[in-house]
Amino acid sequence: MTAEPIRPAEHPSDRLPILSIEDLHVEYKVKNPNGRGKSIARAVDGVSLSLYPGETLAVVGESGSGKTSIANAVMRLIDASSGRIVFDGVDLVPLKGKQLRQLRPRLQMIFQDPFESLDPRMSVMDTVIEPLVINGIGASDADRRALGLAALERAGLTPADRIARRFTHELSGGQRQRVAIAAAMILEPSIVVADEPVSMLDVSLRAGILRLMADMRDRLGVAYLFITHDLSLAWMFADRIAVVYLGRVVEEGSPVELINNPQHPYTKALVSVIPVPETAATANRTVLTGEIPNPTAIPVGCRFHPRCPLYREQSEPDVCRTHDPMLMRTSTQSVHRAACHFVATVD
Ligand code: SF4
Repeated sequence: MTAEPIRPAEHPSDRLPILSIEDLHVEYKVKNPNGRGKSIARAVDGVSLSLYPGETLAVVGESGSGKTSIANAVMRLIDASSGRIVFDGVDLVPLKGKQLRQLRPRLQMIFQDPFESLDPRMSVMDTVIEPLVINGIGASDADRRALGLAALERAGLTPADRIARRFTHELSGGQRQRVAIAAAMILEPSIVVADEPVSMLDVSLRAGILRLMADMRDRLGVAYLFITHDLSLAWMFADRIAVVYLGRVVEEGSPVELINNPQHPYTKALVSVIPVPETAATANRTVLTGEIPNPTAIPVGCRFHPRCPLYREQSEPDVCRTHDPMLMRTSTQSVHRAACHFVATVD
């Protein structure tokens, strides 16, 4: 994996967001381990984020942080319990049926596992043109096949006419993910939600897939909501990063700010264990102890306090156990924000 960033040079936040997630909550009932009754899991617990046209916003967190629930709520694969998901001025949360289907072409998803997300019995051509068929786009089969071949070529699958005739189960993991990207892009969506799009692939293939996605972003102006557990990938690919912990954004900023000047103790710990050249952040590794708590039992006060190195260093101050810190700006010059009682803020 190259360490060269392939993110855009400019932050495009002078435009209106194409997607605004406002105080999103996703809750569901889970059976208690003792088999008696159910508890409420707060998978997403008050997340607000904006995504601008042509931008890549990485949502970074460990397993159980709620990042995939955010992605699935945006795609309406799961229901939000409350909050708004405003896409191009329309709140998706109350939409159903036809209203949702009308917006679907502009909102696409790339899944983590190209072995599961593609039907192995379908040909590559049928897979790629399926969104055209579903949405009634293209004057004829011949038209759709021409668009399919062009999409395969754009995705680096050449010779496209030969690959189009194969079945997806005959392809490698990298080729399958390219087919998935070609299918997601064929309708030229405004937003693509990419849920860990390279984590199932061999390390040697990852940079190629990310370069393809970056190329699509530059050509089509698509915005990515890029879900990943890997902060180094976010640093390389995104032009803004939101770090989530136990259903909440705990820090948000540009990749350079987050990696070179992390503010929240959780982000500091994540940064300390990634091998990013050009920073001295790896000098003092902070290995977090304990597991991320269960979302049915989010700690009171700061949700990070049971694992927080700074909380222990500060002799376990009461405020961390009693008051939930808000996300506050840490710089007058940028969008850098963090949620910690011990971070200097400018709000
Ligand atoms: S508020 Fe306290 S527990 Fe939470 S991150 Fe800051 S120091 Fe740690």
